[in-house]
Amino acid sequence: MRFDIITIFPGIVKPYLTETILARAIAKKFIKVNILSPRQFATDAHRTVDDRPYGGGPGMVMMFGPLAKTVKKVKSRNSKVKSRVVLLSPTGKQFDQKMARKFSKLDQLILISGRYEGVDARIEKIIDEKISIGPYVLSGGELPALIFTEAVSRLIPGVLGKQQSLLNESFDQEGYLEYPHYTRPEVVRWKGKELKVPQVLLSGHHAEIEKWRQKNSQ
Ligand code: SAM
Repeated sequence: MRFDIITIFPGIVKPYLTETILARAIAKKFIKVNILSPRQFATDAHRTVDDRPYGGGPGMVMMFGPLAKTVKKVKSRNSKVKSRVVLLSPTGKQFDQKMARKFSKLDQLILISGRYEGVDARIEKIIDEKISIGPYVLSGGELPALIFTEAVSRLIPGVLGKQQSLLNESFDQEGYLEYPHYTRPEVVRWKGKELKVPQVLLSGHHAEIEKWRQKNSQ
């Protein structure tokens, strides 16, 4: 699957892709992540991609032209390629695991990161969906685009070393939250107290462990 992340700050996005699961997924060609700046399609010498809002008010608004041309450049023209164009926006539909699952079946996902006051509303004509990663406002769409990329990528077969890691993970089923985990040592001493691992997890009794895990998940 290919992700195209459109941002005027590629330097924010790149480092995250050089470590751990996403880096491995890229190296093993399970995913490809392309980072593009709309500045390449700016028409003036200063490579301007934003302007003042019509109607007045504070801040700047990202212009339609450079973003639309960037999308046009990367979007596959092959009708067999399943692709979606997503604008990251706090006013969008809230992102969740169900959406991540749906997006993981695509061939191409184009993610537009806004900045400043947001993006010229006419962008609606070229996007398929507007998605928020949560009910709060960040300064740019780069972190949301990375969150999106990671949540979707880890559902693509092969990306996680063990496909089993996806089973019984939180949100695997509607509203499901995973059971607690413990690791060595068996006893942790903290503020004069002994914090012990539940006995059943040390028992080696798989059926009992499974029962405990079911009881302690939500
Ligand atoms: N003026 C906008 C508003 O009040 O809704 C906020 C714009 S925000 C400062 C700049 C950019 O950050 C947005 O265009 C969007 O791409 C991104 N962004 C901020 N919060 C986000 C969120 N919760 N989900 C997705 N994207 C977000």
